[in-house]
Amino acid sequence: MAATLPGFESAHPDLPGDRAEADFPDHKPRYTKGQAITEAARCLYCYDAPCIQACPTSINIPEFIRKIATGNVRGSARTIFDSNILGMSCARVCPVEVLCVGKCVFNHEDIPPVQIGRLQRYSTDMAFEKGWTFWTPGEPTGKRVAFAGAGPASLAAAHELRKQGHECVVFEKRSLPGGLNTTGVAPYKMIADASLAEVAWITESMGIEVRCGVEIGKDVTWDALLGEFDALFIGLGLGPDSHLGLGSDGLSGIIGGVEVIEKWKTGGPSMVEGVTDAVVIGGGNTSLDVVRELLVLGVPNVTLTYRRGVGAMPGYEHEWKYARVEGAEGSWNTQPVAFEQANGALSGVTCRRTESDPSDPSGRRLQEVAGSEFTIPAQLCVVAVGQGKLAELLGSIPGVELDWGKLKVDEDGRTTNPRVFGGGDVANGGKEVVNAAAEGKRAAHAIHQLLSGEGN
Ligand code: SF4
Repeated sequence: MAATLPGFESAHPDLPGDRAEADFPDHKPRYTKGQAITEAARCLYCYDAPCIQACPTSINIPEFIRKIATGNVRGSARTIFDSNILGMSCARVCPVEVLCVGKCVFNHEDIPPVQIGRLQRYSTDMAFEKGWTFWTPGEPTGKRVAFAGAGPASLAAAHELRKQGHECVVFEKRSLPGGLNTTGVAPYKMIADASLAEVAWITESMGIEVRCGVEIGKDVTWDALLGEFDALFIGLGLGPDSHLGLGSDGLSGIIGGVEVIEKWKTGGPSMVEGVTDAVVIGGGNTSLDVVRELLVLGVPNVTLTYRRGVGAMPGYEHEWKYARVEGAEGSWNTQPVAFEQANGALSGVTCRRTESDPSDPSGRRLQEVAGSEFTIPAQLCVVAVGQGKLAELLGSIPGVELDWGKLKVDEDGRTTNPRVFGGGDVANGGKEVVNAAAEGKRAAHAIHQLLSGEGN
């Protein structure tokens, strides 16, 4: 069972052991010692390594790989965590095919690239299994920082600031910390136990306080946080799933992409009992995750619909290739227009074909093709067309400006309020965990500058 993986036994008591994600196989299991040393020995330890340049947190990849090859796994883990304290989860969830592995020089030689993500997982998993920690809190400065949201950006920022001795308190609305790593990452990439173990590993050894079940705007106000703390970091992520507005979104059998993944990961109903046909509406990475998870959960017929052609999908091409191999079907240039129902439950999704609107010279605008209706049978429809922004909540932070609903920040995470900073999805609109980790760390340096008076 997932919960007994070495190093991850300390899962949160609110996490039921019989949840759906416990049945998901680990798609990239940890290397054995022999496999890790053999793979590490393939690395050329390139000067100006392109794999480092492709990593948003600039992990010294050849250095950590060389340490594995020479048997110094603890040193290897230290190298990784030194750049990215979320190195364990990033080893599981990073899209390495388009980042470090995709830039390995072997790609130019028709030789399989070095499996950097799997080597990173080997070292970081070992650190968890052995209970290695590498840092202690700095001398107390008397300064206090509040964090809104307990996701990767806040955790990365808080860890850096504790090293400097600043007190850090993280506020989280949910009962479980970890943000999307706990509730939204596809279970075949990472289970919630691993995310929660990572949160505990980062926070407990550094004395970072995490207060779950506290909703900002309801249980505590921005003004109260700004009154009590010297600085505030916003790492709230995005809002709930967007809907299609077809008038039947409340019908049973229709659910949002992020919402259904959260059920699978944290113990809600799997939604797939008796389902033989499922439609996933989207084209981004969440929709591709859901397609693959439905197939793992045993749904025989899973169809992805996207309003443009397959080549225009924003989701990763390699994920769709895997989904195809696993049995997914795709319906392109397809716009859902109505949900069909039988006996009060979903029975199908009626769609129309789309084509480029000839009046739009850019060719981007689409129009539906009259008379092209067809219905895809479905007892389950997952709508994964993006997440809303938290504009109302963010807009109520004193002195902070927004940019199309996102938190407006400079490259170091400074907002227009000199005591408020931000990073991760709430500011970048929705990127990878590794981007959130990098942005949190950069913002921590800016916060430390403010609190220490450096650069004034
Ligand atoms: Fe090693 Fe490939 Fe990075 Fe070169 S590009 S240092 S071979 S992982």
